[in-house]
Amino acid sequence: MNKNSYNIMALTPNTSNKRETVCIFGTGDFGRALGHKLIQSGYPVVFGSRNTQTPSLIPKDAEVLSHTEAAQKAAIIIIAIQRQHYSFLTSLAEILHGKVLVDVSNNLKINQYPESNAEYLAQLVPGAKVVKAFNTVSAWALQSGTLDASRQVFVCGDDMEAKQMVMDIVRALGLTPLDQGSLLAAQEIENYPLQLFPMWKFPILLSLGLVAFFFFYSLIRDVIYPYVYESKDFSFFIAISIPNRICPVVALILLALVYLPGVLAAIIQLYRGTKYSRFPDWLDKWMLCRKQLGLVALAFAFLHVLYTLVIPIRSFVRWRTSNKILSLALKNETEPLNTTNAWLSDSYLALGILGFSLFFLLGITSLPSVSNNVNWREFRFVQSKLGYLTLILCTAHTLVYGGNRFLSPSSYRWYLPNAYMLSLIVPCIVLVVKFVLIFPCLDKPLTRIRQGWERNPQYPDKSNYIINKSAV
Ligand code: NAP
Repeated sequence: MNKNSYNIMALTPNTSNKRETVCIFGTGDFGRALGHKLIQSGYPVVFGSRNTQTPSLIPKDAEVLSHTEAAQKAAIIIIAIQRQHYSFLTSLAEILHGKVLVDVSNNLKINQYPESNAEYLAQLVPGAKVVKAFNTVSAWALQSGTLDASRQVFVCGDDMEAKQMVMDIVRALGLTPLDQGSLLAAQEIENYPLQLFPMWKFPILLSLGLVAFFFFYSLIRDVIYPYVYESKDFSFFIAISIPNRICPVVALILLALVYLPGVLAAIIQLYRGTKYSRFPDWLDKWMLCRKQLGLVALAFAFLHVLYTLVIPIRSFVRWRTSNKILSLALKNETEPLNTTNAWLSDSYLALGILGFSLFFLLGITSLPSVSNNVNWREFRFVQSKLGYLTLILCTAHTLVYGGNRFLSPSSYRWYLPNAYMLSLIVPCIVLVVKFVLIFPCLDKPLTRIRQGWERNPQYPDKSNYIINKSAV
Protein backbone atom coordinates (compact mmCIF):
# COMPACT_ATOMS: atom_id res chain seq x y z
CA MET A 1 0.00 0.00 0.00
CA ASN A 2 1.21 3.48 -0.81
CA LYS A 3 1.49 5.07 2.63
CA ASN A 4 1.66 8.63 1.33
CA SER A 5 -1.42 8.47 -0.84
CA TYR A 6 -3.33 6.99 2.12
CA ASN A 7 -2.33 9.95 4.28
CA ILE A 8 -3.30 12.46 1.64
CA MET A 9 -6.73 10.84 1.29
CA ALA A 10 -7.25 10.90 5.04
CA LEU A 11 -6.20 14.51 5.44
CA THR A 12 -8.10 16.04 2.55
CA PRO A 13 -11.07 18.03 3.88
CA ASN A 14 -14.44 17.83 2.24
CA THR A 15 -14.03 20.87 0.02
CA SER A 16 -17.29 20.36 -1.87
CA ASN A 17 -19.32 21.57 1.15
CA LYS A 18 -19.97 25.28 1.61
CA ARG A 19 -18.12 26.53 4.66
CA GLU A 20 -20.34 26.85 7.73
CA THR A 21 -20.21 30.04 9.84
CA VAL A 22 -17.90 29.75 12.82
CA CYS A 23 -18.52 31.77 15.95
CA ILE A 24 -15.66 32.88 18.21
CA PHE A 25 -16.31 34.10 21.75
CA GLY A 26 -13.62 36.60 22.73
CA THR A 27 -11.86 39.20 20.60
CA GLY A 28 -8.49 38.81 22.34
CA ASP A 29 -5.18 37.79 20.71
CA PHE A 30 -6.10 34.18 20.08
CA GLY A 31 -9.70 34.80 18.98
CA ARG A 32 -8.56 37.43 16.44
CA ALA A 33 -5.68 35.29 15.11
CA LEU A 34 -7.93 32.25 14.68
CA GLY A 35 -10.66 34.39 13.12
CA HIS A 36 -8.16 35.84 10.63
CA LYS A 37 -6.99 32.33 9.66
CA LEU A 38 -10.58 31.03 9.35
CA ILE A 39 -11.56 33.93 7.07
CA GLN A 40 -8.46 33.26 4.94
CA SER A 41 -9.63 29.65 4.62
CA GLY A 42 -13.10 30.69 3.47
CA TYR A 43 -15.13 30.45 6.69
CA PRO A 44 -17.63 33.21 7.52
CA VAL A 45 -16.70 34.33 11.06
CA VAL A 46 -18.80 36.01 13.69
CA PHE A 47 -17.36 37.19 17.01
CA GLY A 48 -19.28 37.13 20.29
CA SER A 49 -17.99 39.88 22.54
CA ARG A 50 -18.84 42.00 25.58
CA ASN A 51 -18.19 45.03 23.39
CA THR A 52 -19.99 45.02 20.04
CA GLN A 53 -18.27 48.17 18.73
CA THR A 54 -15.96 46.65 16.07
CA PRO A 55 -12.40 47.32 17.26
CA SER A 56 -9.81 48.16 14.56
CA LEU A 57 -7.86 44.92 15.12
CA ILE A 58 -10.82 42.67 14.22
CA PRO A 59 -10.49 41.10 10.73
CA LYS A 60 -12.52 43.37 8.45
CA ASP A 61 -14.77 40.61 7.00
CA ALA A 62 -15.92 39.50 10.46
CA GLU A 63 -19.01 40.59 12.35
CA VAL A 64 -18.93 41.45 16.07
CA LEU A 65 -22.17 40.78 17.96
CA SER A 66 -23.25 40.08 21.49
CA HIS A 67 -22.60 36.53 22.76
CA THR A 68 -26.28 35.59 22.40
CA GLU A 69 -26.64 36.92 18.83
CA ALA A 70 -23.35 35.46 17.68
CA ALA A 71 -24.09 32.01 19.14
CA GLN A 72 -27.39 31.88 17.23
CA LYS A 73 -25.55 32.26 13.92
CA ALA A 74 -23.28 29.19 14.15
CA ALA A 75 -23.26 25.52 15.08
CA ILE A 76 -19.63 25.70 16.18
CA ILE A 77 -18.49 28.17 18.84
CA ILE A 78 -14.84 28.57 19.69
CA ILE A 79 -14.38 29.78 23.28
CA ALA A 80 -11.29 32.00 23.06
CA ILE A 81 -11.62 33.19 26.65
CA GLN A 82 -9.57 32.34 29.77
CA ARG A 83 -11.10 29.59 31.94
CA GLN A 84 -11.62 31.89 34.94
CA HIS A 85 -14.22 33.87 32.92
CA TYR A 86 -16.25 30.83 31.76
CA SER A 87 -18.94 31.25 34.44
CA PHE A 88 -20.98 33.71 32.29
CA LEU A 89 -21.60 30.83 29.82
CA THR A 90 -24.12 29.23 32.23
CA SER A 91 -26.54 32.10 31.46
CA LEU A 92 -26.28 31.14 27.75
CA ALA A 93 -26.89 27.42 28.40
CA GLU A 94 -30.19 27.41 26.51
CA ILE A 95 -28.75 29.00 23.33
CA LEU A 96 -25.66 26.81 23.51
CA HIS A 97 -27.72 23.61 23.83
CA GLY A 98 -26.70 21.12 21.09
CA LYS A 99 -23.91 23.40 19.81
CA VAL A 100 -20.29 22.34 19.43
CA LEU A 101 -18.14 24.29 21.93
CA VAL A 102 -14.42 24.26 21.17
CA ASP A 103 -12.25 24.75 24.23
CA VAL A 104 -8.86 26.23 23.22
CA SER A 105 -7.72 27.25 26.68
CA ASN A 106 -4.42 26.63 28.41
CA ASN A 107 -3.38 27.00 32.04
CA LEU A 108 -0.40 28.62 33.70
CA LYS A 109 0.67 25.49 35.60
CA ILE A 110 0.57 21.74 34.95
CA ASN A 111 -2.57 20.16 36.56
CA GLN A 112 -3.62 23.61 37.84
CA TYR A 113 -7.24 22.53 38.39
CA PRO A 114 -8.64 19.16 39.52
CA GLU A 115 -10.48 18.77 36.19
CA SER A 116 -9.45 19.92 32.72
CA ASN A 117 -10.79 23.23 31.39
CA ALA A 118 -12.74 21.33 28.72
CA GLU A 119 -14.42 19.09 31.33
CA TYR A 120 -15.20 22.18 33.40
CA LEU A 121 -16.81 23.77 30.33
CA ALA A 122 -18.86 20.60 29.74
CA GLN A 123 -20.08 20.77 33.37
CA LEU A 124 -21.08 24.44 32.97
CA VAL A 125 -22.99 23.84 29.72
CA PRO A 126 -24.17 20.21 29.94
CA GLY A 127 -26.30 20.41 26.78
CA ALA A 128 -23.35 21.36 24.54
CA LYS A 129 -20.90 19.05 22.78
CA VAL A 130 -17.46 20.07 24.04
CA VAL A 131 -14.34 19.44 21.96
CA LYS A 132 -10.79 20.31 23.01
CA ALA A 133 -8.57 21.64 20.20
CA PHE A 134 -6.13 24.33 19.06
CA ASN A 135 -4.50 24.90 22.48
CA THR A 136 -1.08 23.76 21.18
CA VAL A 137 -1.05 26.43 18.44
CA SER A 138 -0.03 29.95 19.39
CA ALA A 139 -1.81 33.14 18.32
CA TRP A 140 1.49 34.41 16.91
CA ALA A 141 1.99 31.30 14.74
CA LEU A 142 -1.59 31.55 13.42
CA GLN A 143 -1.22 35.23 12.63
CA SER A 144 2.25 35.08 11.06
CA GLY A 145 1.72 31.76 9.28
CA THR A 146 4.91 30.28 10.81
CA LEU A 147 3.24 27.03 11.80
CA ASP A 148 6.12 24.67 11.06
CA ALA A 149 6.81 23.86 14.71
CA SER A 150 3.17 23.46 15.72
CA ARG A 151 1.31 22.03 12.75
CA GLN A 152 -0.20 19.25 14.88
CA VAL A 153 -3.46 19.98 16.65
CA PHE A 154 -4.54 17.54 19.36
CA VAL A 155 -8.31 17.03 19.34
CA CYS A 156 -10.46 15.18 21.88
CA GLY A 157 -14.14 15.00 22.71
CA ASP A 158 -16.95 12.61 23.62
CA ASP A 159 -19.17 13.33 20.59
CA MET A 160 -17.73 11.75 17.42
CA GLU A 161 -19.68 13.98 15.03
CA ALA A 162 -18.66 17.17 16.85
CA LYS A 163 -15.04 16.04 16.91
CA GLN A 164 -15.17 15.30 13.17
CA MET A 165 -16.55 18.82 12.47
CA VAL A 166 -13.67 20.39 14.42
CA MET A 167 -11.11 18.14 12.71
CA ASP A 168 -12.43 19.27 9.32
CA ILE A 169 -11.84 22.90 10.32
CA VAL A 170 -8.33 22.02 11.54
CA ARG A 171 -7.52 20.44 8.15
CA ALA A 172 -9.03 23.37 6.25
CA LEU A 173 -6.60 25.67 8.08
CA GLY A 174 -3.69 23.57 6.77
CA LEU A 175 -3.03 21.91 10.12
CA THR A 176 -2.90 18.24 11.08
CA PRO A 177 -5.52 17.01 13.57
CA LEU A 178 -4.48 14.21 15.93
CA ASP A 179 -7.47 12.47 17.50
CA GLN A 180 -6.63 11.84 21.16
CA GLY A 181 -9.90 10.14 22.09
CA SER A 182 -12.51 11.20 24.64
CA LEU A 183 -12.64 14.38 26.74
CA LEU A 184 -10.70 12.49 29.44
CA ALA A 185 -7.58 13.21 27.38
CA ALA A 186 -8.11 16.98 27.71
CA GLN A 187 -6.01 17.33 30.87
CA GLU A 188 -3.00 15.77 29.15
CA ILE A 189 -3.53 17.97 26.07
CA GLU A 190 -3.71 21.06 28.30
CA ASN A 191 -0.49 20.07 30.07
CA TYR A 192 1.34 19.49 26.79
CA PRO A 193 2.21 23.16 25.92
CA LEU A 194 3.48 23.67 29.48
CA GLN A 195 6.12 20.98 29.20
CA LEU A 196 9.66 21.98 28.39
CA PHE A 197 11.43 19.28 26.35
CA PRO A 198 10.02 16.47 28.56
CA MET A 199 11.96 13.71 26.78
CA TRP A 200 15.22 15.68 26.85
CA LYS A 201 15.24 16.50 30.56
CA PHE A 202 16.78 13.24 31.79
CA PRO A 203 19.44 12.94 29.02
CA ILE A 204 20.51 16.58 29.42
CA LEU A 205 20.63 16.49 33.23
CA LEU A 206 22.50 13.19 33.14
CA SER A 207 25.06 14.45 30.62
CA LEU A 208 25.54 17.70 32.59
CA GLY A 209 26.13 15.61 35.73
CA LEU A 210 28.67 13.43 33.92
CA VAL A 211 30.41 16.48 32.42
CA ALA A 212 30.71 18.12 35.86
CA PHE A 213 32.01 14.91 37.45
CA PHE A 214 34.63 14.21 34.76
CA PHE A 215 35.67 17.88 34.63
CA PHE A 216 36.63 17.92 38.32
CA TYR A 217 38.07 14.40 38.06
CA SER A 218 40.36 15.41 35.16
CA LEU A 219 41.21 18.71 36.83
CA ILE A 220 42.49 16.84 39.88
CA ARG A 221 44.47 14.29 37.83
CA ASP A 222 45.81 16.44 35.00
CA VAL A 223 46.20 19.93 36.47
CA ILE A 224 46.35 19.80 40.28
CA TYR A 225 48.47 16.62 40.55
CA PRO A 226 51.34 17.85 38.25
CA TYR A 227 51.22 21.23 40.01
CA VAL A 228 51.57 19.65 43.46
CA TYR A 229 54.22 17.02 42.61
CA GLU A 230 56.13 18.57 39.68
CA SER A 231 55.33 22.31 40.10
CA LYS A 232 54.14 22.33 36.47
CA ASP A 233 51.38 24.72 35.40
CA PHE A 234 49.05 22.81 33.06
CA SER A 235 46.04 25.02 33.76
CA PHE A 236 45.68 25.69 29.99
CA PHE A 237 44.52 22.02 29.71
CA ILE A 238 41.10 23.38 30.76
CA ALA A 239 40.60 24.82 27.25
CA ILE A 240 41.15 21.78 25.01
CA SER A 241 42.78 18.76 26.69
CA ILE A 242 40.21 18.33 29.44
CA PRO A 243 37.14 18.90 27.19
CA ASN A 244 38.67 16.40 24.75
CA ARG A 245 38.81 13.88 27.60
CA ILE A 246 35.31 14.60 28.83
CA CYS A 247 33.54 14.47 25.42
CA PRO A 248 34.50 10.91 24.37
CA VAL A 249 34.01 9.60 27.90
CA VAL A 250 30.50 11.08 28.21
CA ALA A 251 29.62 10.02 24.61
CA LEU A 252 30.62 6.40 25.30
CA ILE A 253 28.80 6.19 28.64
CA LEU A 254 25.62 7.72 27.16
CA LEU A 255 25.76 5.39 24.15
CA ALA A 256 26.02 2.41 26.52
CA LEU A 257 23.10 3.81 28.54
CA VAL A 258 20.99 3.70 25.35
CA TYR A 259 21.42 -0.09 25.26
CA LEU A 260 21.47 -0.84 29.01
CA PRO A 261 17.65 -0.60 29.51
CA GLY A 262 17.17 -3.12 26.68
CA VAL A 263 19.31 -5.73 28.41
CA LEU A 264 17.72 -4.93 31.79
CA ALA A 265 14.27 -5.42 30.22
CA ALA A 266 15.40 -8.77 28.77
CA ILE A 267 16.63 -9.93 32.21
CA ILE A 268 13.34 -8.85 33.84
CA GLN A 269 11.28 -10.67 31.18
CA LEU A 270 13.37 -13.83 31.57
CA TYR A 271 13.04 -13.69 35.35
CA ARG A 272 9.26 -13.10 35.27
CA GLY A 273 8.70 -15.50 32.37
CA THR A 274 6.21 -13.13 30.72
CA LYS A 275 6.07 -9.90 28.77
CA TYR A 276 2.58 -9.10 30.08
CA SER A 277 3.60 -7.45 33.32
CA ARG A 278 4.67 -3.84 33.45
CA PHE A 279 8.28 -2.76 33.74
CA PRO A 280 9.11 -0.52 36.69
CA ASP A 281 8.28 3.14 35.97
CA TRP A 282 11.92 4.25 35.93
CA LEU A 283 12.73 1.64 33.26
CA ASP A 284 9.72 2.68 31.15
CA LYS A 285 10.82 6.33 31.29
CA TRP A 286 14.44 5.41 30.55
CA MET A 287 13.38 3.38 27.47
CA LEU A 288 11.26 6.25 26.19
CA CYS A 289 14.18 8.69 26.13
CA ARG A 290 16.75 6.39 24.47
CA LYS A 291 16.63 8.35 21.21
CA GLN A 292 17.39 11.61 23.03
CA LEU A 293 20.20 9.91 25.02
CA GLY A 294 21.70 8.69 21.74
CA LEU A 295 21.48 12.13 20.12
CA VAL A 296 23.15 13.83 23.10
CA ALA A 297 25.86 11.13 22.94
CA LEU A 298 26.32 11.86 19.23
CA ALA A 299 26.73 15.58 19.97
CA PHE A 300 29.54 14.78 22.45
CA ALA A 301 31.19 12.41 19.95
CA PHE A 302 31.04 15.17 17.33
CA LEU A 303 32.73 17.62 19.73
CA HIS A 304 35.44 15.00 20.39
CA VAL A 305 36.09 14.81 16.62
CA LEU A 306 36.41 18.61 16.40
CA TYR A 307 38.72 18.84 19.43
CA THR A 308 40.87 16.04 18.01
CA LEU A 309 41.22 17.79 14.65
CA VAL A 310 42.84 20.86 16.23
CA ILE A 311 45.46 18.88 18.20
CA PRO A 312 48.27 19.33 15.60
CA ILE A 313 47.94 23.14 15.60
CA ARG A 314 48.05 23.49 19.38
CA SER A 315 51.04 25.49 20.62
CA PHE A 316 51.73 22.97 23.42
CA VAL A 317 51.75 20.03 20.98
CA ARG A 318 54.03 21.86 18.50
CA TRP A 319 56.38 22.82 21.35
CA ARG A 320 56.52 19.23 22.64
CA THR A 321 57.22 17.80 19.17
CA SER A 322 59.96 20.31 18.28
CA ASN A 323 61.50 19.93 21.73
CA LYS A 324 61.72 16.18 21.32
CA ILE A 325 63.30 16.49 17.85
CA LEU A 326 65.84 19.05 19.16
CA SER A 327 66.81 16.96 22.16
CA LEU A 328 67.35 13.91 19.90
CA ALA A 329 69.38 16.06 17.46
CA LEU A 330 71.54 17.45 20.29
CA LYS A 331 72.23 13.94 21.52
CA ASN A 332 72.81 12.89 17.89
CA GLU A 333 70.27 10.08 18.33
CA THR A 334 67.34 8.78 16.32
CA GLU A 335 64.38 6.85 17.58
CA PRO A 336 63.63 3.60 15.71
CA LEU A 337 60.05 3.14 14.52
CA ASN A 338 58.04 1.18 17.08
CA THR A 339 55.80 -0.96 14.87
CA THR A 340 53.65 -2.09 17.81
CA ASN A 341 52.91 1.52 18.75
CA ALA A 342 52.23 2.37 15.08
CA TRP A 343 49.75 -0.52 14.90
CA LEU A 344 48.06 0.50 18.13
CA SER A 345 47.79 4.13 17.05
CA ASP A 346 46.46 3.34 13.56
CA SER A 347 44.03 0.75 14.91
CA TYR A 348 42.55 3.05 17.53
CA LEU A 349 42.15 5.82 14.95
CA ALA A 350 40.53 3.42 12.45
CA LEU A 351 38.14 2.11 15.13
CA GLY A 352 37.27 5.68 16.08
CA ILE A 353 36.55 6.68 12.47
CA LEU A 354 34.37 3.60 11.86
CA GLY A 355 32.60 3.99 15.21
CA PHE A 356 31.84 7.66 14.59
CA SER A 357 30.58 7.00 11.03
CA LEU A 358 28.12 4.37 12.29
CA PHE A 359 27.16 6.61 15.20
CA PHE A 360 26.37 9.35 12.67
CA LEU A 361 24.27 6.89 10.64
CA LEU A 362 22.30 5.99 13.77
CA GLY A 363 21.65 9.69 14.39
CA ILE A 364 20.42 10.23 10.83
CA THR A 365 18.06 7.24 10.91
CA SER A 366 16.49 8.53 14.12
CA LEU A 367 15.30 11.70 12.32
CA PRO A 368 11.56 11.44 11.64
CA SER A 369 11.98 12.28 7.92
CA VAL A 370 14.28 9.24 7.55
CA SER A 371 12.65 6.85 10.02
CA ASN A 372 9.23 7.45 8.38
CA ASN A 373 10.64 6.03 5.17
CA VAL A 374 11.94 2.73 6.52
CA ASN A 375 9.86 -0.16 7.76
CA TRP A 376 9.95 -1.40 11.35
CA ARG A 377 12.38 -4.23 10.56
CA GLU A 378 14.84 -1.90 8.79
CA PHE A 379 14.62 0.60 11.65
CA ARG A 380 15.29 -2.13 14.22
CA PHE A 381 18.19 -3.46 12.18
CA VAL A 382 19.88 -0.04 12.14
CA GLN A 383 19.09 0.96 15.72
CA SER A 384 19.72 -2.42 17.32
CA LYS A 385 22.25 -4.41 15.23
CA LEU A 386 24.24 -1.45 13.89
CA GLY A 387 23.80 0.25 17.26
CA TYR A 388 25.53 -2.61 19.07
CA LEU A 389 28.23 -2.64 16.38
CA THR A 390 28.77 1.08 17.05
CA LEU A 391 29.05 0.39 20.78
CA ILE A 392 31.57 -2.40 20.11
CA LEU A 393 33.68 -0.18 17.82
CA CYS A 394 33.65 2.78 20.21
CA THR A 395 34.49 0.56 23.20
CA ALA A 396 37.32 -1.06 21.20
CA HIS A 397 38.54 2.43 20.19
CA THR A 398 38.86 3.33 23.89
CA LEU A 399 40.41 -0.02 24.87
CA VAL A 400 43.08 0.20 22.13
CA TYR A 401 43.72 3.85 23.05
CA GLY A 402 44.48 2.66 26.58
CA GLY A 403 46.77 -0.06 25.18
CA ASN A 404 49.38 -1.08 27.74
CA ARG A 405 48.69 2.01 29.88
CA PHE A 406 46.02 0.12 31.83
CA LEU A 407 48.70 -1.68 33.82
CA SER A 408 51.20 1.17 34.07
CA PRO A 409 51.41 2.59 37.66
CA SER A 410 51.98 6.11 36.22
CA SER A 411 48.40 6.02 34.88
CA TYR A 412 47.10 6.06 38.45
CA ARG A 413 47.56 9.50 39.99
CA TRP A 414 46.50 9.58 43.62
CA TYR A 415 45.19 6.06 42.90
CA LEU A 416 42.77 7.58 40.38
CA PRO A 417 42.67 5.78 37.01
CA ASN A 418 42.37 7.72 33.75
CA ALA A 419 38.85 8.99 32.94
CA TYR A 420 38.66 6.80 29.84
CA MET A 421 39.19 3.71 32.02
CA LEU A 422 36.11 4.65 34.06
CA SER A 423 34.14 5.21 30.86
CA LEU A 424 34.65 1.56 29.89
CA ILE A 425 32.74 0.15 32.87
CA VAL A 426 29.14 0.60 31.61
CA PRO A 427 29.81 -0.33 27.92
CA CYS A 428 31.70 -3.47 28.96
CA ILE A 429 28.88 -4.54 31.29
CA VAL A 430 26.28 -3.96 28.53
CA LEU A 431 28.30 -5.88 25.91
CA VAL A 432 29.08 -8.81 28.23
CA VAL A 433 25.42 -9.17 29.33
CA LYS A 434 24.23 -8.85 25.72
CA PHE A 435 26.75 -11.53 24.70
CA VAL A 436 25.45 -13.86 27.44
CA LEU A 437 21.86 -13.22 26.33
CA ILE A 438 22.73 -14.43 22.82
CA PHE A 439 23.35 -17.98 24.13
CA PRO A 440 20.52 -20.23 22.87
CA CYS A 441 19.58 -21.34 26.39
CA LEU A 442 18.57 -17.71 27.12
CA ASP A 443 17.81 -16.39 23.65
CA LYS A 444 15.21 -19.08 22.84
CA PRO A 445 13.02 -18.57 25.93
CA LEU A 446 13.39 -14.79 25.57
CA THR A 447 12.23 -14.91 21.93
CA ARG A 448 9.24 -17.08 22.97
CA ILE A 449 8.36 -14.70 25.80
CA ARG A 450 8.46 -11.77 23.38
CA GLN A 451 6.13 -13.69 21.06
CA GLY A 452 3.58 -13.99 23.88
CA TRP A 453 4.52 -17.27 25.62
CA GLU A 454 4.20 -17.27 29.43
CA ARG A 455 5.87 -19.55 31.97
CA ASN A 456 2.92 -19.35 34.36
CA PRO A 457 -0.01 -18.15 32.21
CA GLN A 458 -2.56 -16.05 34.05
CA TYR A 459 -5.30 -17.01 31.57
CA PRO A 460 -4.85 -20.64 30.40
CA ASP A 461 -5.10 -21.14 26.64
CA LYS A 462 -8.76 -22.17 26.07
CA SER A 463 -8.03 -24.06 22.84
CA ASN A 464 -5.54 -26.29 24.71
CA TYR A 465 -8.10 -26.78 27.44
CA ILE A 466 -10.74 -27.94 24.95
CA ILE A 467 -8.27 -30.30 23.21
CA ASN A 468 -7.17 -31.72 26.57
CA LYS A 469 -10.77 -32.18 27.70
CA SER A 470 -11.76 -34.02 24.52
CA ALA A 471 -8.64 -36.21 24.89
CA VAL A 472 -9.87 -37.20 28.40
P1 NAP B 1 -6.80 37.61 25.77
O1 NAP B 1 -6.03 38.33 24.73
O2 NAP B 1 -6.70 38.03 27.17
O3 NAP B 1 -8.32 37.59 25.32
C1 NAP B 1 -9.30 37.01 26.09
C2 NAP B 1 -10.65 37.54 25.68
O4 NAP B 1 -11.64 37.01 26.54
C3 NAP B 1 -10.81 39.05 25.83
O5 NAP B 1 -10.33 39.73 24.72
C4 NAP B 1 -12.28 39.22 26.05
O6 NAP B 1 -12.94 39.34 24.80
C5 NAP B 1 -12.71 37.91 26.68
N1 NAP B 1 -12.97 38.14 28.12
C6 NAP B 1 -12.11 38.60 29.03
N2 NAP B 1 -12.71 38.66 30.24
C7 NAP B 1 -13.98 38.22 30.08
C8 NAP B 1 -15.09 38.05 30.94
N3 NAP B 1 -15.03 38.35 32.25
N4 NAP B 1 -16.25 37.58 30.42
C9 NAP B 1 -16.32 37.27 29.11
N5 NAP B 1 -15.31 37.44 28.22
C10 NAP B 1 -14.15 37.88 28.71
O7 NAP B 1 -6.41 36.06 25.76
P2 NAP B 1 -5.96 35.19 24.50
O8 NAP B 1 -4.49 35.18 24.43
O9 NAP B 1 -6.72 35.55 23.30
O10 NAP B 1 -6.39 33.72 24.98
C11 NAP B 1 -7.74 33.31 24.90
C12 NAP B 1 -7.81 31.81 25.18
O11 NAP B 1 -7.03 31.13 24.21
C13 NAP B 1 -7.20 31.45 26.53
O12 NAP B 1 -7.98 30.44 27.13
C14 NAP B 1 -5.83 30.92 26.19
O13 NAP B 1 -5.39 29.94 27.12
C15 NAP B 1 -6.08 30.27 24.83
N6 NAP B 1 -4.88 30.19 23.99
C16 NAP B 1 -4.16 31.30 23.74
C17 NAP B 1 -3.01 31.20 22.92
C18 NAP B 1 -2.19 32.42 22.58
O14 NAP B 1 -1.16 32.28 21.89
N7 NAP B 1 -2.59 33.58 22.98
C19 NAP B 1 -2.62 29.96 22.41
C20 NAP B 1 -3.40 28.84 22.68
C21 NAP B 1 -4.54 28.97 23.47
P3 NAP B 1 -14.09 40.46 24.59
O15 NAP B 1 -13.53 41.75 25.10
O16 NAP B 1 -14.32 40.45 23.11
O17 NAP B 1 -15.30 40.02 25.36
